[in-house]
Amino acid sequence: MGIQERVRSGREILLTFDDGPDPSVTPAVLEALREAKARAVFFVLGKQVEKYPDLVRRTQDEGHIIGNHTYTHTAYGRFTLFEYLEDVKRCQEAVAKVLGRSPTYFRPPEGRLTVGSLSVPLLCGLHTMYWSLDPRDFSLETSEQANLCADQLAAQTRPGDILLLHDVNPALPRVLARLLPQLRERGMDSSESVKRLESRTPYQK
Ligand SMILES: [Zn+2]
Repeated sequence: MGIQERVRSGREILLTFDDGPDPSVTPAVLEALREAKARAVFFVLGKQVEKYPDLVRRTQDEGHIIGNHTYTHTAYGRFTLFEYLEDVKRCQEAVAKVLGRSPTYFRPPEGRLTVGSLSVPLLCGLHTMYWSLDPRDFSLETSEQANLCADQLAAQTRPGDILLLHDVNPALPRVLARLLPQLRERGMDSSESVKRLESRTPYQK
C-alpha cells in the first residue's frame, strides 16, 4: 500500500505544489514562501524538470522538498502498468540528473487510487502522498477569484491538513500573498511538517 503521509502534531499543515516547475509562476511562488518563511513540497513533472533544471535546484536550495509527479502527467488508466512505471522512473531520473538523487515522495496525476498508482510507487521506493484540501486553484482566472480562494482556503484549513496547489497558474502567487499571512496568524505552520518529512530521507540514490 502507498502511505498517506499525515501531518501530526500541533498546528502543523503541509503546503504542496504540483505540476511545475513553471518559469512564469514558480519563481513568484518561491518568493511568496520565502517572505512567509514557509516551506513546502513540490511534486514536479519530469518533462518540466528537464526544461527548467535551475528552478528545481533553486526550489531545493530554498528549503523545499522535491517529489515525483511522473514525467508526462498521464494517469494510470490511460497508460498500461508498464508505461506508468516507465513514466514514474523517467521523472526519478530527470530529478536525479539535476539534484544527484531522486525523490522519495510521490503524488499520482489526478490522485486516483488504482492498481498502478498503488503498486508502481512501491516498485520505485516511493511513498505516495495525497492531500486533504483541494481548492481547485488551477481554475482561477481573475484576482477576485484568487482572493476569494485564499480567504476560503484560510477559513477551511485545520491542523493536519495537506493543501493541494499548482505552481502553474499565474493567479497562484496572489492566492499565496493573501493565504500565507492568514495561516500564519492562526499559527498554522508548514515548515515543521517539511522538517519532519526531511528527517525521513526525502531522497534516495
Ligand atoms: Zn498534477
